Amino acid sequence: MPDRPNLKNYSLERLRERFIGEGLPAYRADQVAGWIYQRGVEDFTQMSNLDLSLREWLEANWQSRCLEIDRVDRSTDGTLKAILFAADGAQIESVLIPETNRTTLCVSTQVGCAMACTFCATGALGFTRNLTTAEIIEQVCRMREILDAPRKITNIVFMGMGEPLLNLAAVSESIAILVHPKAFAMAPRRLTVSTVGVLPKIEELLAIAPINLAVSLHATTDAVRDQLVPLNRRYPLDALLGLLRQLDDVNHRRPVFFEYTLIEGINDSLEDAKRLPALLRGIPSKLNLIPMNPHPESAYRPPSEAVIDAFLRELASAGMTVTLRRSRGDDIGAACGQLALRRTGAAAA
Ligand code: SAH
Repeated sequence: MPDRPNLKNYSLERLRERFIGEGLPAYRADQVAGWIYQRGVEDFTQMSNLDLSLREWLEANWQSRCLEIDRVDRSTDGTLKAILFAADGAQIESVLIPETNRTTLCVSTQVGCAMACTFCATGALGFTRNLTTAEIIEQVCRMREILDAPRKITNIVFMGMGEPLLNLAAVSESIAILVHPKAFAMAPRRLTVSTVGVLPKIEELLAIAPINLAVSLHATTDAVRDQLVPLNRRYPLDALLGLLRQLDDVNHRRPVFFEYTLIEGINDSLEDAKRLPALLRGIPSKLNLIPMNPHPESAYRPPSEAVIDAFLRELASAGMTVTLRRSRGDDIGAACGQLALRRTGAAAA
């Protein structure tokens, strides 16, 4: 069968243009989007308010589904990790994190990752390809189907496999679909995109919509960051933080969420904690500390509780807004940095 385009690759604006180009009224595009995104109906034959001829045209020229769930693991803490496969057999992972007042979905943006961060299991996989917009959006569609009613996805973080800013076209189009009132109608505030710091793309990302920016920091010196995040050699700390300091889209209403993975003996010293406030001065921000989630691809370990506590106390006493992120789903290899398509068993004790 010739490759028919997937409807989910198109923002509403572009879908309307395509429909108009075919001589169809724009509202038909909105109706189709309503079925797919709001009602979760992907089968054209069930779109009962469309004429039969339109349904036939859709059936002949478009597709509406491209990802299937291969398997779902459920953590003892309620976190759900799914392995999904695309039409070409590529596999990715998505993670659902139900909490008391919200349910967060963590989506992947690439198959594997080219960034090769030395503590990240996805980094050890290497890069295969970018995901399409439809493949990013469809993680939302498939994952909401496995959520226990009446739970709904309230937040989406682009923190799964891959570097979102190296697939910005698809990420941008996905955000457009997530926030569009006729599609998922999510508030931009409920979306967060995380990057290791692909400098030339950050402004473009922030211009898409008032979403949250997360930046994977992980170190207070270039020597250590070079070792953990190889991209730092191209865009060192000064350049990264200097840019964030200048951006109008970064402000107290829209702070940067810095992620700092604490690794024993590497970036967990009191000197590191003391350097952080000065390093981040002038950047409205919040800091998330994530104790290293161990996995077989890395020898790095999390620090002891005492060291984590001391680090946290030092930052708090310097007046920083800092939270310790509890690991979720690490018994099923679903925690930050553990996404690497292990099919059997737990990641690490
Ligand atoms: N490439 C983007 C998006 C992935 S976000 C980025 O790196 O920001 C995934 C987050 O988990 C990043 O902050 C990453 O640094 C962190 N992470 C990776 N491996 C980890 C590990 N083993 N333990 C804890 N956090 C990890």
